Amino acid sequence: MVLKLDHIGIAVANLEESLKLYTGALGMKLHGTETVEDQKVKTAFLPLGDTEVELLESTSPDGPIGKFIESRGQGIHHLAFKVDNVEKALEELKKQGIRLIDEKPRYGAGGAKIAFLHPKATNGVLIELCERE
Ligand code: ZN
Repeated sequence: MVLKLDHIGIAVANLEESLKLYTGALGMKLHGTETVEDQKVKTAFLPLGDTEVELLESTSPDGPIGKFIESRGQGIHHLAFKVDNVEKALEELKKQGIRLIDEKPRYGAGGAKIAFLHPKATNGVLIELCERE
């Protein structure tokens, strides 16, 4: 069902500060930044070989990333797996009794269709399914 690791999502307190590490010391290229109002996050994508690093800064303390940092601190937030068709994948997982956060896909950064599985169903790893051209 999943095709590859699409990206790794990392929660950061300050996007600009973090970018200094990734584009500076680590020498990665910034592909672009985008604010996703719906998720209350500012994101930055840094391609890395066949995958990408996604940095996530909360635009509000009550957003999902704000709450995550509040309770667990900065760090790896989710793994995103690429799928052909998010709707179909969700249907299939539901049939198998896998608990979902999103029953229907929503739109993430770059217009990707995304959906999260429930970390209780995935041994504590927040998994995002991601469909994009
Ligand atoms: Zn993501």
